[in-house]
Amino acid sequence: MERIILIKYGEMTTKKGNRNFFVKTLATNLEQKLKDYPCTLEKDMSRMYLSYDEREEKEILEAIHSVFGIHTYHIAYTCESNLEEIKKTLQETIQKEVFHTFKVEVKRSDKSFPQNSAELAPIFGGVILKSKEGIKVDVHHPDMVVHVEIRKEKSLIYYNAYQGLGGYPVGTQPKGMLMLSGGIDSPVAGYLAMKRGIKIDAVYFEAIPHTSLEAREKVKTLTRKLAKYQSMIHLHIVPFTKIQEEIYKNVKENYVITIMRRMMYRIMETLAKKNKALAIINGESIGQVASQTLNSMFVINHVTNLPVIRPVACLDKLEIIDIAKKIDTYNTSILPYEDCCTVFVPKHPVINPTLEECEKEEQNFEFKNLIEQAVEETRVLKIKEQEEKEYQSLL
Ligand code: ATP
Ligand code: MG
Repeated sequence: MERIILIKYGEMTTKKGNRNFFVKTLATNLEQKLKDYPCTLEKDMSRMYLSYDEREEKEILEAIHSVFGIHTYHIAYTCESNLEEIKKTLQETIQKEVFHTFKVEVKRSDKSFPQNSAELAPIFGGVILKSKEGIKVDVHHPDMVVHVEIRKEKSLIYYNAYQGLGGYPVGTQPKGMLMLSGGIDSPVAGYLAMKRGIKIDAVYFEAIPHTSLEAREKVKTLTRKLAKYQSMIHLHIVPFTKIQEEIYKNVKENYVITIMRRMMYRIMETLAKKNKALAIINGESIGQVASQTLNSMFVINHVTNLPVIRPVACLDKLEIIDIAKKIDTYNTSILPYEDCCTVFVPKHPVINPTLEECEKEEQNFEFKNLIEQAVEETRVLKIKEQEEKEYQSLL
């Protein structure tokens, strides 16, 4: 008997033509995630089988739980495909499981096996009933489903599922550039984009000395937390001070934020081209603030042809916070350091800006060179999840 982990794919199994690519990407991501543990991964078109060292089970399960594209995973036991061996394995492994009611599901892919599934289910049910006190069969709402799969080489026994993260494996879509501020929404937006298979680079607009180094550290920590889902993230730090000061000097107060965001989008587009990314991703949520009304989105979006993905556009703040807590970014996001957007907030930002006004205001200063310079002076950091772990252990 060997104890393994059985991994079942999620939505991707419906994508017939691309299945091979999806499975390969998932396997690569899993292997990358598990590279520090001695284990071997076997795959076919519908599932994977991971052999591993039981002493590292907790860490390995946790690692599997941070890989997109997995529907469910199970601890499973393999044994010889004969009735006595299967019964013995059931008897031994059922002891650890905690439940009151159960049902047995038998799948027999080896059609040469003497008994069929309908005959086998009561046999295995009987074995389980004899092995444990105080349990009974409930075929409608069991606490526990006992799966027995009879296959040619080895048979497989497994119990209830762990729920995977779902989504598509990261890397099954091209790259997207995530606008990552220190707030609550943008890390959640990044997480949801990765869940659709988009590999992300993060971009942070920094306005030192108006924003602090602590604010940068906060963004680095958030990036590390997101790196859990794609192993390494490039964080681009854009020096935004000069542009912001020019806007503040030259643009009428109620248009300051709108113009600032148009400048950000222009820089995002240039960075995307430079880094072969096909989308801008951000944490805008419709109606949340003046710069996120549909009118604002329209005039801000107007400066780029790239698709702008807004994964939290239609979520309530409380729904966003729920996800932020689940992915452990919330407590970092609520740390009180100033963001470059909050430093220059006007008293009455325009809620319904017009294109004409934006273009008029932008004629008041020479922004093209400033944008080029900001892109040129952008620094890139490689941020890995591992450093987050090391950092945590130092605290
Ligand atoms: P968050 O939306 O992340 O909670 P926020 O509420 O401060 O932060 P806004 O200032 O309204 O958000 O900005 C909306 C979106 O624009 C952010 O979600 C983020 O994607 C992007 N953004 C804002 N400021 C920055 C910045 N300094 N660097 C990078 N992206 C930014
Ligand atoms: Mg916001």
